[in-house]
Amino acid sequence: MAASDKEKQLKKELRQLRKQYDFLVAALDNLPNPIFMKDEEAKFLFFNKRYAEAFGMKREEYVGKSVLDLEYLPPVDRERYQEEDTALIRSGEEVSYEKDFDFADGEVHPSLYWSKGVHDPVSGAQGLIGEIVDISKERHLRESLNESLEKLRLTNLKLEEMNKIDAGTGVYNRTLLNKKSLEMTYRKSRGESCALMADLDHFKRVNDLYGHIKGDEVLSQFAEILKSECREKDVPIRYGGEEFLLFLNDASLESGLQVAERIRARCEKEIRLPDGDPITVSIGVALMDAKKNLQDNIRRLDDNLYLAKHRGRNRVVAEEG
Ligand code: GH3
Ligand code: MG
Ligand code: MG
Repeated sequence: MAASDKEKQLKKELRQLRKQYDFLVAALDNLPNPIFMKDEEAKFLFFNKRYAEAFGMKREEYVGKSVLDLEYLPPVDRERYQEEDTALIRSGEEVSYEKDFDFADGEVHPSLYWSKGVHDPVSGAQGLIGEIVDISKERHLRESLNESLEKLRLTNLKLEEMNKIDAGTGVYNRTLLNKKSLEMTYRKSRGESCALMADLDHFKRVNDLYGHIKGDEVLSQFAEILKSECREKDVPIRYGGEEFLLFLNDASLESGLQVAERIRARCEKEIRLPDGDPITVSIGVALMDAKKNLQDNIRRLDDNLYLAKHRGRNRVVAEEG
């Protein structure tokens, strides 16, 4: 082949290579994420259009420079990145972490930073490639998701709490009796624990004479008395229609009797029917036997309540047995 033909051939190949190179650059400039490549000295070989836009850097100004020349970074960060870059180039390893980047738009962009040392076995060239993925939207979504989850958790807690409360009277409902925690409380208490079971007397008559709404009002008045006699560690429960339980933790039988008597007297004095008749209550009191289960303990309260009714109502009974 003549020398000029060879030259033509070479020029043609060069043009083709140039075309391929331009195409590669154009393709990388079309990527949505900032990417960069560095040579073995950790100096920029290339960064794409998105990288240039994100950091406000011109390719012609920074190609051939390293991270140490990036004025927008604080000097400590420049040195740290340079160290990281050189270590990756040496080892061929990769790193990936979340980092907040200050972009040229003046905003902080939470991003996923990835970079890897590259060793080309054919040419023996070494360098680095890296990518930054802006995860602002994902971070925002994650944060609002976490907020919603927290709200949901609190709502659930409230619902759980509300489920335990009797809507009509504001004391606990029977579901609490299924919870082991109640049994545990009197079993674990250091001293004695006492409980009482109260049942309004002739309550049916209230409904019959004044209707259910008045009946409900009386129930809620009685529950207020019950609650006001409770200490922090006591547990008032609506056991049935007009029957209430009150668990007095760390209380002797004597103090349980005193509480019961106060409740009885206040009920008689404070709750009046429209005709002026008092509402009265019968109460059974017993010590909680830690060796017995809740049902057996409640049975003993019920027995004493029955005795109170049998002996004429409007009284407190605490028989041993
Ligand atoms: P005793 O002195 O023997 O306890 O008589 P009592 O009438 O209170 O007992 P009884 O068990 O015969 O009647 C209870 C009544 O309580 C019957 C029911 O209509 C009424 N009751 C139960 N739950 C409610 C409620 O939520 N609201 C109203 N208004 N009444 C209720
Ligand atoms: Mg009853
Ligand atoms: Mg009754």
